[in-house]
Amino acid sequence: MHAEIISIGTELLMGETVDTNSSYLGAELAKLGIGLRWATKVGDDPDLLFEVLDRAWRRSDVTLTTGGLGPTSDDLTRETTARVLDEEMVVQDELLEHLKGLFAGRGTPMPDTNIKQATLIQSADAIPNPLGTAPGWWVERGGSILVAMPGPPRELTRMWTCEVAPRLKQHNPGVAIVTRTLKTFGISEGGLDQMLTPLFQAANPNLGIYSKEDGIHLRAIATAETEDEARTLIEPMEAEIRRIIGDDAIWGEDDETAISQVASLLTGRRQTLGIMECFTGGLLASNLADAPRAAEFLKGSLVVNGAGVLAAQGVDARVVEEFGPASAEVAEAMAEAARRRFDADVGIGVTGLVTDPTPTSGPLGTSHIGFSIDGRTASTSGRYPTQRLRIRGRAVTHTLLELIQFLRRS
Ligand code: ATP
Ligand code: MG
Repeated sequence: MHAEIISIGTELLMGETVDTNSSYLGAELAKLGIGLRWATKVGDDPDLLFEVLDRAWRRSDVTLTTGGLGPTSDDLTRETTARVLDEEMVVQDELLEHLKGLFAGRGTPMPDTNIKQATLIQSADAIPNPLGTAPGWWVERGGSILVAMPGPPRELTRMWTCEVAPRLKQHNPGVAIVTRTLKTFGISEGGLDQMLTPLFQAANPNLGIYSKEDGIHLRAIATAETEDEARTLIEPMEAEIRRIIGDDAIWGEDDETAISQVASLLTGRRQTLGIMECFTGGLLASNLADAPRAAEFLKGSLVVNGAGVLAAQGVDARVVEEFGPASAEVAEAMAEAARRRFDADVGIGVTGLVTDPTPTSGPLGTSHIGFSIDGRTASTSGRYPTQRLRIRGRAVTHTLLELIQFLRRS
């Protein structure tokens, strides 16, 4: 079974809206074991949309469209689908009543333009959309399927998860896919590639390596008839990876993030955190504040700038004088000061500099990250050759990953 995606909307071609729907659906189709062959973007033009839809309907088992289900004259997905299948759009009393009810609930009369949202063609069922006015269409004829879904990502993902994916799974039985992602640190991409060479040659599970902002990810994908069988295929590969690279090199799995790992380490040990950040300007605390149970471990953060402020917040002025504010020594002193200041178990200090070394090489961020626990301190440094606006984000991720390692060792 193979699929095709059509993202509809002129704003997608103009670069105003980024087409995240097709990336989302692409990842979701892979989980169902349905191969994606084409993804097309097309504007709100009836003839061009006809051309693309007609071709998809003829060549693909499953066509998924997003967008163009609204009430306005440039929302053309229904009309064009009806034209491609040469079927007539008929207003459905039940859908119309429902739609009128939605408008009545908002206290406004329903404009006539919305009536088309209550239509179907003979080969279509309505797909409920509790988050919007436009229901989707599930069209099935002659062994082919076309699913028309709304453009707003929130409505699309809900409709996909609750309605469309379960239905498509029934049409594609006997394919189960299980994936396992191991997120690593401390070993380079080339190093991992070399250590795991024999595993990369296996077809099922298939092992991929991806360099991400939070380290190198290893992802195994197993395909089998049932989920249990797929899991049985993937487990020995995971064990082998862990044996070869060591558990210390793995900081997380699947959906785990650096934030969620820090949160679970700290809450698990009932430890608290105090932060003093200069380089990251409050971003570290801001990100951690979003973590699950943040209130249990995040005692506070000071955003500081300049030698005078450092001294006023308990950082030894002689250390700042001797090593300069952007130094590993000061980062450690900041961590210790933050720990004392907030009466926390663990202190973090982040300092550093953004410099423009030459006009052509662009900005370069150098951070110094200090940790303090039980009166012991440690530090590390990072360099981020990236766009100025991304440097702070990179430093935050780096700090969190180093914190995971520091906590595990202490
Ligand atoms: P509505 O009833 O809201 O008009 P619709 O199905 O007609 O729904 P569109 O009008 O095409 O959908 O898009 C509505 C909004 O959804 C767009 O303004 C855009 O923000 C978002 N959107 C549409 N298509 C995509 C896409 N492919 N990826 C991400 N966002 C999208
Ligand atoms: Mg619209």
